[in-house]
Amino acid sequence: MIKFDIITIFPEIFDSYFKESLIKRALDKRLIKINIHNLRKWTKDKHHTVDDKPFGGGLGMVMKVEPIYRAVKELSSLKKELSSSRVILFSPGAKKFNQKMAYKFSKLDHLILICGRYEGVDERVAKYIADEEISIGDYVLMGGEIPAMIVVEAVSRLVPGIVGKTQFLKERVTEGKGFVEYPQYTRPEIFNKWPVPKILMSGNHKKIEEWRKEHQKTIE
Ligand code: SAH
Repeated sequence: MIKFDIITIFPEIFDSYFKESLIKRALDKRLIKINIHNLRKWTKDKHHTVDDKPFGGGLGMVMKVEPIYRAVKELSSLKKELSSSRVILFSPGAKKFNQKMAYKFSKLDHLILICGRYEGVDERVAKYIADEEISIGDYVLMGGEIPAMIVVEAVSRLVPGIVGKTQFLKERVTEGKGFVEYPQYTRPEIFNKWPVPKILMSGNHKKIEEWRKEHQKTIE
């Protein structure tokens, strides 16, 4: 079972998302576990401060290092020696998350995901606390919560038993090398004069396989 510990200042963002569809089923079947933690729990002042002004000046606020340090320390101390664990910080400028990383993560027991907000996170989190920094794409969001959902979803669907068997088998073939996709059609055969490629209805499995190979894309 993979356990995801998500550190955020907006825990409620995750409420509806993780209560639907395959993620909900995976949680119910205990194939994955997701704990959402409010970072403010690890603050010590009465205002539960998680951000402060940037050294050197500049606009906006920066997330402080101490609460994140305490959060990660507590969350990674449990069963440390037993689990293969990784601490991930979401940063827009970092290396991009891809299917290969999702495979690697799906073999771990434990992922700690740190969601930034405001103008970002004190650099010491990246340097001394996180094992790696990940971006989900070349655009800047307002926070790391959607990136965390993306990582949870991409990793979870690689855990045996979460998505349908055929889908899972299809991916096993190319394990670690990416995911193969080809165009798919379903009934009706013609809609609005838009036809389905004839070959797919030919019943000739060899030809169909060739057609799929010709049209396939690998997501790495
Ligand atoms: N000025 C900051 C922007 C921070 S955006 C900078 O240039 O780095 C606030 C937070 O949103 C970030 O700390 C990060 O956790 C998250 N975030 C924004 N865009 C992201 C992306 N493309 N991938 C992953 N995380 C992202």
